[in-house]
Amino acid sequence: MQITKAVFTQSAAVLEKCPLTQLPEYAFIGRSNVGKSSLINMLTGKKGLAKTSGEPGKTRLINHFLINESWFIVDLPGYGYARASHKAREEWEKMVYSYFSGRKNLMNTFVLVDLRLEPQRIDLEFINWLGESEIPFVIVFTKADKLTKNQIVSNVSSYIARLKEEWDEVPPFLVSSATSGQGKHEILSHIDEANTFYNNQNI
Ligand code: GDP
Repeated sequence: MQITKAVFTQSAAVLEKCPLTQLPEYAFIGRSNVGKSSLINMLTGKKGLAKTSGEPGKTRLINHFLINESWFIVDLPGYGYARASHKAREEWEKMVYSYFSGRKNLMNTFVLVDLRLEPQRIDLEFINWLGESEIPFVIVFTKADKLTKNQIVSNVSSYIARLKEEWDEVPPFLVSSATSGQGKHEILSHIDEANTFYNNQNI
């Protein structure tokens, strides 16, 4: 699939302000600074579409982007911002959890994880919560260009080993880089397949 059109449609502070739509959507989420905006810009081929944030944790909104006039990319607010207040964290939880429980057209969530870091508790907790809540997701390891091939293999293996402590079946994952474009084809193919499935169901 090629993305030929990508348009920002709206920012929502609450679920009720998200677009009323039957179109399928795909959420992107991860720790602040994980590279979410860069990945969305890379996927869409539009540099300034999602704002890459010098100041992590600043965007606390659900942003919808209409793609090819037929599906949405949803940029969810990042978590794990070190200086976030208790109140800000609570608000994040409320917003994100209501989004996940309320969006019937949500087909998949891409959970971004920085491949350079040791497995972080906050990511693992979020991934486990998605699993327990039966929300389909794919783990997207980011910033692969900052590592050698050997480091990629080694870091992915240790992450998978860590996940296996809690998961019988390892969740789907892929490796990406906003800089090199790695992972683009896999992510878009995944979305393409899910769109076909969704459209066939809704005929
Ligand atoms: P967000 O807060 O998750 O939206 O993260 P951003 O997209 O703003 O990225 C955070 C920082 O990481 C920025 O300085 C980006 O330039 C950098 N970055 C993001 N993705 C990549 C990547 O794939 N490779 C490299 N080398 N840097 C990246």
